[in-house]
Amino acid sequence: MHPADPRHKRDDPHQVRFDPEVEIILPARQRHAVAGPAPPSDYTVYSELNQCIRTEKQVKSQVDIHRTSVYTPYTIVTKRRVALNFNHRSTRRAVFLSTPALWEHGHGKNHPLKPERLKRTFELLEEYGAFAAPNVQVIAPPSATEDELALVHSRNYIEVVRVLSEGGAWTETREYISPMRYGFGSGDNPIFPEMYETESLKAGGSLTGAKLLVNGECDVAFSYSGGMHHAMASYASGFCVFNDPAIAIQWMVEQGLRVAYVDVDVHHGDGVEALFYDTDRVLTISLHQDGRTLFPGTGFVHDIGEGAGTGYAVNVPLLPDTDDETYLWAFNQIVPPLLERFAADVIVSQLGVDTHYKDPLAHIALTTAGQTALFEAFDALAPRWLALGGGGYNLDVVPRSWTLAFGVMSGQTFPDELPSGYRARYGGRWLRDHEEPPLSEAAREYVWQRTQDMVAEVKKVHRL
Ligand SMILES: [Zn+2]
Repeated sequence: MHPADPRHKRDDPHQVRFDPEVEIILPARQRHAVAGPAPPSDYTVYSELNQCIRTEKQVKSQVDIHRTSVYTPYTIVTKRRVALNFNHRSTRRAVFLSTPALWEHGHGKNHPLKPERLKRTFELLEEYGAFAAPNVQVIAPPSATEDELALVHSRNYIEVVRVLSEGGAWTETREYISPMRYGFGSGDNPIFPEMYETESLKAGGSLTGAKLLVNGECDVAFSYSGGMHHAMASYASGFCVFNDPAIAIQWMVEQGLRVAYVDVDVHHGDGVEALFYDTDRVLTISLHQDGRTLFPGTGFVHDIGEGAGTGYAVNVPLLPDTDDETYLWAFNQIVPPLLERFAADVIVSQLGVDTHYKDPLAHIALTTAGQTALFEAFDALAPRWLALGGGGYNLDVVPRSWTLAFGVMSGQTFPDELPSGYRARYGGRWLRDHEEPPLSEAAREYVWQRTQDMVAEVKKVHRL
């Protein structure tokens, strides 16, 4: 059944409905206010949100003050330029899944997936006082059990990971393990001490978040060590050993829920897509840098699922140098209408922040402002929201981006100046970017033109 089928529509009072009259305000760029080309006619660019409010004095009382803080220049507005509350739950009960055990072991000194990314993020949030808010809980998750890992992984692979982690080379059935056969031993996926414990703990974090959401114990859960979206059923790939998004999703599907997965990591969410490619119970959407220019080299517009899952895999490949405006335009054209049509009970988002323009491994050009607008879109669209981490390899950027993400989830706005202790240890000054990506207008314009064609094709393929 194609997701366009109206039989998929259900009445759920908890479902946040996407209003086609609503669009996401895109980040302003000075060029539109000065001499540059006029903004495309089907969306509106404001130089400042305040300007938008001034032009709508008569509806000022409807403006949600929380969302229009000077620190969050994005909001949801209607085409009539009315800022809406949009069922925003500033008192969402937010859980942050973390334990120091997550950053004790890693892939090695020269590997980009440094555990310090997690440690610094936790410290920055803590020093902002984020965990002291009355609607916030920090929960130390247990590791995923072998049975839980087996929700998506083969028993043989789980054993292989355990044996390699312990320094062994033979399975119980005396199979000699060739690490390369299971994706290990390459630069991407080295075998490291406590690998099994560390990686099953990440999966445990995401699964615990899913359980808390399903049991009604929170409204949003952030498993920031998760998002290991490249792992396959029987092999490791792209720094990922266990596919925690798929494990959490599969568990929720077995509870009878409809789950939509939206992956905004700069890399295609190939592992999650592959594990649900033939089912209509899970909608997977991935926005990523075009596979012709980046690992894992997959995720093209016409890859849409198979069998019962036809139409339930959605791919939005973006060109290198895609900036905030173009990215958010593409997101807004595709993701909200698909989520509305699918009517998910839970949205799982993979919030890799390697989309940042300073990321050393990829070439998309988002700023923290664009990333925050994405987080706010998820906040508005998700009835229940399981947020996962993912990529992001610039140690200066990742803690700031995920701090902004958890601020959106828990309804908190943090001062722009970084806390003094954090600054003293790690440097930096501001939470939000104060610079633009070094892109020429010609490059931005070229990407914008090409992106319109790509989005038109996605819409055609998925009947939007
Ligand atoms: Zn990535």
